[in-house]
Amino acid sequence: MADPRVNGQGAAQVDAVVVGAGPAGAAAAWELARAGRSVVLLERGPFPGSKNLYGGVVYGRILDQMVPRWWEEVPVQRWVVRRSTMVATPTQALTVDYRTQAWGRPPYNGMTAFRSEFDRWLAGKAVAAGATLVTSTVATGLLRDETGRIAGVRTDRPDGDLRAKVVIACDGVNSFLAKEARLLPRVDAAHHTLGVKEVLALPREVIDQRFGLRGDEGADFEILGCTGGIPGGGFLYTNADTVAVGVVLSLPHLAASKKRPEEVIAGLKAHPAIAPYLEGATLKEYGAHLIPEGGYDHIPQLHTDGMLVAGDAAGMCLAAGIWLEGVNFAIGSGLAAGRTAARAVASGDTSAAGLAAYRRELEEGFVLANHKRLRAAPGLVLSDRVQHRYPGLIADLAEGMFTVTDPTPKPGLLKLLRRAARRNDVRLRHLLMDGLRGGRAFR
Ligand SMILES: Cc1cc2nc3c(=O)[nH]c(=O)nc-3n(C[C@H](O)[C@H](O)[C@H](O)COP(=O)(O)OP(=O)(O)OC[C@H]3O[C@@H](n4cnc5c(N)ncnc54)[C@H](O)[C@@H]3O)c2cc1C
Repeated sequence: MADPRVNGQGAAQVDAVVVGAGPAGAAAAWELARAGRSVVLLERGPFPGSKNLYGGVVYGRILDQMVPRWWEEVPVQRWVVRRSTMVATPTQALTVDYRTQAWGRPPYNGMTAFRSEFDRWLAGKAVAAGATLVTSTVATGLLRDETGRIAGVRTDRPDGDLRAKVVIACDGVNSFLAKEARLLPRVDAAHHTLGVKEVLALPREVIDQRFGLRGDEGADFEILGCTGGIPGGGFLYTNADTVAVGVVLSLPHLAASKKRPEEVIAGLKAHPAIAPYLEGATLKEYGAHLIPEGGYDHIPQLHTDGMLVAGDAAGMCLAAGIWLEGVNFAIGSGLAAGRTAARAVASGDTSAAGLAAYRRELEEGFVLANHKRLRAAPGLVLSDRVQHRYPGLIADLAEGMFTVTDPTPKPGLLKLLRRAARRNDVRLRHLLMDGLRGGRAFR
């Protein structure tokens, strides 16, 4: 999908260039194009979605703003109607298993989807609105004008400089463009996790039977205590005739453990509560990708003269234990960046002052409001007690409650709690303190 303007002699000039055709980039380009601005959407992969890796669930409410009745055309694998949150130890598992038929009909809540299909579909909306998509092209750096202000990007094409009034960096976690603009500081491993995932093939009817699903219903399992002592979590999602199983691991702890991520996934797959779902499944794909998990306190500066940053490039993935949502936050921030850029171009002021409305819009909307409210959650969820002691405490408490002790009378709940706390080296005052912290973090 070559764009002659990029290969032509001298630098081409457009209103905006958006780097990265993931969900953030597609949304930003769509807003700009729809406002009548000339916009180039650059993607290094051969097509949008070809380089993108995630667990598997898209929460589509934000799409209402882009495509009315999007569920009639989006490339979906399954509509998630079952959400299970599991706390595990190597030999135990306690699951809160929620399901609702409401999520299985319009306007839906979440769906499993392949990024190779979803991102391509979303970028197609930007192209339909008038954006120019240029694939197999890497933005290699920023162009600056004589005053030092950002004025476009260099690409790896011959004569491929592209001048623009605004650059929107949607190039994902560890954004080289945001770093070059000094918006993103050096990446701190402590605020990143490594997401590792396998896609396993199973016949559709086997998935339906094992997960208790019918038709295009899907299931989403989130699991705590299954990462072999490395802080993080696990997931298991159903596609039409594959399942995605994976783990999200604290980077410094993974490095210190000397374990290979695939060993950790193997441990999850062999867990007695997970293995029966996967019996006979064959490996189709394996991949790994960084996730920005710093939360609100580590969201960088989001704009400078001539440039905005959106999506994972700006650390906007919400990874707060029971939630792992990045695609919807990427789309939300991309839309806001596109709108701000379009207004700034129209007003003739694409300086930092002209682009400052972006942050305000994000703070007022769901993207930064959620991050702000949940700012303490990532730290709490990855803390030692939540990761290493509470899964055992919860599982032992459940085991105590459900184990029949005849001929002795059933022990009271407080006695069981004390016993589970002792076994798992938890002080009740810490439990109380963390309970309060949790209450505040998730209020
Ligand atoms: C294992 C794992 C599980 C996850 N599970 C979920 C989940 O179930 N649900 C969910 O909502 N989120 C999930 N996430 C988070 C989600 O994947 C991200 O938050 C989301 O993809 C961010 O979108 P983005 O558009 O900002 O960035 P990306 O999707 O990373 O897109 C960036 C794009 O920029 C392109 N690019 C990069 N550099 C350049 C360059 N120099 N020139 C041109 N193009 C470039 C890339 O090829 C890519 O297409 C998960 C992440 C991981 C790693």
